[in-house]
Amino acid sequence: MFAVEPPPSQADLLFRLFGFPIRVSPWFWGVTLILGISGSEKADPAMVLMWVVVVFISIVVHELGHAFLQRRFGGRPRIVLYGFGGLAISDDCDRAPRSQILISLAGPLAGFLFAAAIVAAIRLSGHNVRFGMQPGLVGKLLPLWEPFESPMANVLIFYLLYVNIFWGLLNLLPIYPLDGGRVSRELFTLNHPRQGIVQSLWVSVITAGAVAVWALTQNSIFTTFMFGYLAYASYQTLRAYQDRHY
Ligand SMILES: [Zn+2]
Repeated sequence: MFAVEPPPSQADLLFRLFGFPIRVSPWFWGVTLILGISGSEKADPAMVLMWVVVVFISIVVHELGHAFLQRRFGGRPRIVLYGFGGLAISDDCDRAPRSQILISLAGPLAGFLFAAAIVAAIRLSGHNVRFGMQPGLVGKLLPLWEPFESPMANVLIFYLLYVNIFWGLLNLLPIYPLDGGRVSRELFTLNHPRQGIVQSLWVSVITAGAVAVWALTQNSIFTTFMFGYLAYASYQTLRAYQDRHY
């Protein structure tokens, strides 16, 4: 998510999927584990392990969405998973705004399609799924399914839907360097390259600040810290940009 790639290390996990080289930094496991432990009240080891596997698979699916489109637009992307999510890096693909917007949208879209496949699988197993009232904002964004007998199966489904739907939606907010922020920058700069960057950065500062305040009211410390940092980073970029151009 932050556009800085960690240096290669001996502890990296390396593999290929659909022809794309994938590198997983040890920081990815560390940060995901901490998120899993701090997120559940009891920190049951089996549940934390399941969380790490779900985040790993979901981020790979998300980055594959970007990578397939980068390849479609002439690139030879590689994928890196690190402390703050993933990156699909391709320096050689088409830079046209339309291509860049489609590439940015493909990540969250891949996650939504993955969630749709999970919902279809729940239905096929004879369990009803409906979109109804659930407690909390996150709950309202996720489908409600007729519970399975195994509590672990229900936790697994919740994690999968949460990461693929809720994180996907967060990622579409017009905050740089999230996918939505990249889309917003392309749209703002279509007609006004210079002003557009400044406007998109202001949108990024305000949106990230609003999410940080909202997260604070929800007692979500990690989200508050993360979006507070994103607001600050966008503001710093804005200042640096204005110093250079005015
Ligand atoms: Zn993405």
